[in-house]
Amino acid sequence: TRQIVLASRPHGAPTDENFRLESVDLPEPGQGQVLVRNEIMSVDPYMRGRMNDVKSYVPPFQIDAPLDGGAVGEVIASDSAEVPVGAHVLHGLGWREHVTLDASNVTVIDTDAAPASAYLGVLGMPGVTAYVGLTAVAGMREGDTVFISGAAGAVGQVAGQIAKALGAERVVGSAGSPEKIERLLELGYDAAFNYKETPVREGLREVAPDGIDVYFDNVGGDHLEAAIGHLNRFGRVAMCGAISQYNATEPAPGPRNLFQAIGKGLTLRGFIVGQYPHLADEYRSQAATWLADGRLVGDETFRDGLEGAPRAFMDLLGGANTGKMLVRLS
Ligand code: NDP
Repeated sequence: TRQIVLASRPHGAPTDENFRLESVDLPEPGQGQVLVRNEIMSVDPYMRGRMNDVKSYVPPFQIDAPLDGGAVGEVIASDSAEVPVGAHVLHGLGWREHVTLDASNVTVIDTDAAPASAYLGVLGMPGVTAYVGLTAVAGMREGDTVFISGAAGAVGQVAGQIAKALGAERVVGSAGSPEKIERLLELGYDAAFNYKETPVREGLREVAPDGIDVYFDNVGGDHLEAAIGHLNRFGRVAMCGAISQYNATEPAPGPRNLFQAIGKGLTLRGFIVGQYPHLADEYRSQAATWLADGRLVGDETFRDGLEGAPRAFMDLLGGANTGKMLVRLS
């Protein structure tokens, strides 16, 4: 079977040279193990951080070792009564076509309830992230005006739609192309701007003339600075990601207007979705309802083949995706 290993650590934006496709022998499942044929794997922005040799909330990828990350696939051999052959499972060992792992490390998914890909996107980690960030972290309330950056991505699309479903008065976003802006309006965003054409400060004034109460930050940098300037009194920021800085080779300057947090009584709170495990089931049961009644749609952008995974990852960082970026393996 084939897998992709980290050949070298990127300096700045990742390149083809940082990845290598390898063939390896597949171990038979041992006691309590299953053999999974991966069907779809996820590429995610956090993987860029794991390519650096730094201490973080997840350990770094190792040189010459396979990359890993969310994947769904079908069990093709099993030594576990709970996870039989034919079951579809979600697990954390993507970036390879097959994998043998302990049955305790997979979650059986219901592909009648939703397509397998949804468990990596709208019903999966990105969806839960959107929900946790809005509810537990930002404390979004009915009537709030909510601004979401990276709004056309996996987390951002869901965040905007569930903000509406939870009673936000006005939901606005930013994204990097005219097509993405158009899509956001179709998905129920009240307004959105292209940050590549309009400086964030100006864009925000146009889409939210009365200010914002909640900022869901996927981007950091100038987006965060502009949002701090535009937040209303007692505004709240869910610090979810800072993708504008992931390829940076020097420390980025902080928001120059952070002192405004004092006078406005702002709250800026970071989070990692895994810090709120108790909210995952709560989100999934709500999301099932919203998906069924059409209030929630999760777009997906597919690439094909394991050999296409590094390019899919690089293009994700560059903004080629609308909704969740996924790689079909079989
Ligand atoms: P996305 O699907 O949003 O993909 C990344 C997007 O980021 C691209 O499509 C691109 O869209 C945008 N982007 C890239 N560079 C820039 C830039 N310089 N400025 C503004 N936008 C940029 O990824 P996810 O939905 O998976 O993740 C979104 C964010 O949430 C990331 O920051 C990620 O790290 C974070 N995250 C945090 C979690 C947590 O637990 N805290 C969990 C999951 C994700 P565009 O065309 O608009 O530029």
